[in-house]
Amino acid sequence: MSQGKTRDRASRARRRGALLCAADAIELAQHYDVVVLGGGAAGLVAGICAAEQGAKVLVLEADVECGRSILATGNGRCNFANTNLDPRRYNDAGFVRAAFGERALEDILAFFSDCGLRWVQEEDRLYPRSRRAASLRNVLLARARRAGVTLGCARRADEARRTEDGFCVGFTQELPEGSARRGSLRCSSLVLAYGGTDASVAAGLGLELHERRPVLCPLSCEDSPLLTLDGRRAQARVTLVREGKRLWDEGGELLIRSYGLSGIVIFDLSRRAHEGDGLLLDLASELTHDELLDLVDPKRRGRFVPGCLDGVLDPDIASLLEGLACSSEELAGLAKGFRLRALGTADETHAQVRRGGLACSQFAAQDLSCASAPGLFACGEALDIDADCGGFNLAWAWKSGMLAGSAAAGQTLGKASH
Ligand SMILES: Cc1cc2nc3c(=O)[nH]c(=O)nc-3n(C[C@H](O)[C@H](O)[C@H](O)COP(=O)(O)OP(=O)(O)OC[C@H]3O[C@@H](n4cnc5c(N)ncnc54)[C@H](O)[C@@H]3O)c2cc1C
Repeated sequence: MSQGKTRDRASRARRRGALLCAADAIELAQHYDVVVLGGGAAGLVAGICAAEQGAKVLVLEADVECGRSILATGNGRCNFANTNLDPRRYNDAGFVRAAFGERALEDILAFFSDCGLRWVQEEDRLYPRSRRAASLRNVLLARARRAGVTLGCARRADEARRTEDGFCVGFTQELPEGSARRGSLRCSSLVLAYGGTDASVAAGLGLELHERRPVLCPLSCEDSPLLTLDGRRAQARVTLVREGKRLWDEGGELLIRSYGLSGIVIFDLSRRAHEGDGLLLDLASELTHDELLDLVDPKRRGRFVPGCLDGVLDPDIASLLEGLACSSEELAGLAKGFRLRALGTADETHAQVRRGGLACSQFAAQDLSCASAPGLFACGEALDIDADCGGFNLAWAWKSGMLAGSAAAGQTLGKASH
């Protein structure tokens, strides 16, 4: 291992040690009005909203610090919302429509404006003005501290059960010296915000869970000559075809991999594709079939001129298509509709979102309260909600966090005032 790598590893270990010490220095009370399980995107917002209403709030976070999941988003730039939060971009449009109401984007932007965040728009995607996810994470942490939220990091919740007047939560704390300590506490309201992992707490609360599976990830495809161009990128319009029906299409950049396809447009497709589905790649979508024929065979002799697509496509892709086509019609056909067959999701460790989790039918969309367990709420990816790339998933995390956190505080403080 190089000296540089050894130094990096040592400095990461030191930082982790310091964070574990800081986490250990936080003393937890025996009882909170609201406990939020998970200090990621949704959990931090839920904690802030609950505390700003006057509730005594603890966010229990398994990692050594809160908000780390936010840092990796949007390639470190954090595409935190979209100007067109269309519920149809989500797997359960009805539930999301009811939760979003009429003003989801305004609510999200007002929240972040109050945090001191400024943003920029790229097409319909919103990013922090600094184009750094750390900006957004830092303003959230600062607001949580100002609101008086206790951030109980390095503590993984592994048990939760209902009590007569609320909930009891058990957790395991990672200690600086490498050992672990068990702890437990009570709360009046509990917010589940543990993201796409399957926390054992849900089972203890008797909640219905939908099986998890990664979505928003690359797709593996049946072998094809195109896949020999591993690493090559192309602008394409991709159509998903099942049993002869065109189900969905979207344009964007795709990345050719030896096992299949990646890129944002493919991530979106991975939410919809089944094994055996056909993928039609239009590699020259701005041109009609005839316009393309004019380029490859201007005199319509049925033969194409070698190199005729080099000015339109990546030359290696163009040359591969030329090698496969016997006529100009065939070449234009391949460029306008290259066929691949999907085998399933691939490289799942890099999936951005996991479908499944808490069945939404157990929760009221308007405040994300659980019908069968008063005082219980859920938000973010813990619920079975996922969406396309473009800021939709984080938008759900923020808005659902606001709803759940405010309602959890309202329920607890309302009960206390009676
Ligand atoms: C690489 C990558 C890039 C992405 N980019 C974007 C993007 O640009 N735009 C977008 O909209 N979406 C993006 N997403 C998706 C987005 O990050 C998630 O939708 C969002 O973070 C979900 O928020 P959440 O709070 O529900 O879960 P998370 O943010 O994952 O937070 C869950 C938290 O709970 C903690 N936790 C888990 N189990 C326990 C437990 N038992 N006890 C205590 N704590 C626990 C975790 O450590 C974590 O901190 C991206 C995802 C990935 C992986």
